[in-house]
Amino acid sequence: MSDATRIDLVLGERSYPVLVGPGLLAEAGAYLAPFARNGRIAVVTDEAVWSAQGQHLQAGLAGSGIEAVPVIVQQGEEAKSWGGIADLLDRLLALGLGRGDHLVAFGGGVIGDLAGFAAAILKRGCGFVQVPTTLLAQVDSSVGGKTGINTNAGKNMVGAFHQPSLVLIDPDVLDTLPERQLRSGYAEVVKYGLLGDADFFAWCEAEGAVLLAGNAKARKQAICASVAAKAAIVSEDEREQGGRRALLNLGHTFGHALEAEAGFSERLLHGEAVAIGMVLAFRFSAARGLCSVGDADRVAAHLSSAGLPTGFNADAAQLVRHIRQDKKAESGRVPFILVRGIGQAFVVRNVDLEEVEAFLRKERSA
Ligand code: NAD
Ligand code: ZN
Repeated sequence: MSDATRIDLVLGERSYPVLVGPGLLAEAGAYLAPFARNGRIAVVTDEAVWSAQGQHLQAGLAGSGIEAVPVIVQQGEEAKSWGGIADLLDRLLALGLGRGDHLVAFGGGVIGDLAGFAAAILKRGCGFVQVPTTLLAQVDSSVGGKTGINTNAGKNMVGAFHQPSLVLIDPDVLDTLPERQLRSGYAEVVKYGLLGDADFFAWCEAEGAVLLAGNAKARKQAICASVAAKAAIVSEDEREQGGRRALLNLGHTFGHALEAEAGFSERLLHGEAVAIGMVLAFRFSAARGLCSVGDADRVAAHLSSAGLPTGFNADAAQLVRHIRQDKKAESGRVPFILVRGIGQAFVVRNVDLEEVEAFLRKERSA
């Protein structure tokens, strides 16, 4: 077998390994054999992923005599909906899936969230394996057990914590990922450096360009460092109950507001919004005298060199309205992730939204 790197997510009886290795898809059968029943396993995926990478997974499973049964769902964020989950559950039930079974989530964060949520509630819960195919899913969403769908009330408003049994990450699948998606996922890689590891941010500054150009060694290193960082945080605070998991939201409060303003559309991808949001978190921290303007400039310079946006042009009051809704602000105050410098994020529980609005008014680029 290939020399995959193993990172363990330690969560008592819900612990599981995350395996990272180029070419891992070709050996998927060996890893998935314990989860296949009667030599078959359902693979939840979308058309783009299946046509770009399906044959590799199929061949890898066939090598161990396992047949992949593709369950192809709608592509894009719209799949994470009541209609999407109802349709998927009907199809999985029609295949005869039950509590003792596992399904495979083969795709980006949308597929992982949707298929993971289906696994959480199908016959009160079946197992699942994550085989993430976007950089965002490989470094973030496939690890940690958050699953769910969007509703009229907003993004990820209905869901469950449901940990996978195994996460298989083959960085080679990124060869067919559209470049804009790759850059968007890279914002989440940089996030781990910014929130808790200044050395890793410096590594990103040095190696980010080769990573984005497709260098296999840099790609694997970034994925392993990101997964290790996320696994450590989730092990400590699985359900985001006052511990370190909230730090993973660095840049996300501002980012979600920008995504909401763009209507959660292709106009602004999640990672792009997070890139702008992280710059704003640093600038806001600098404005409060918590970190230096130099740090904020350094963050913006790196994200910009990675082809990510770092500024915005939207109405400040409107953005604050989104933040208020998103965070269910209590008497005009919301928690924010701020920084004392690169690699030093912390939670501030009650930031005044009037201060945020005044800050955003100044930051808005013409
Ligand atoms: P995505 O799942 O929509 O994938 C992006 C696009 O790339 C899709 O069109 C997909 O078909 C295509 N694609 C995926 N892999 C490909 C490949 N290897 N080759 C060619 N095309 C490929 O987007 P995403 O950025 O991966 O995920 C975003 C979602 O993740 C959001 O819904 C967000 O809420 C969720 N998310 C969840 C968590 C979590 O902890 N559960 C964390 C972060 C984000
Ligand atoms: Zn994110």
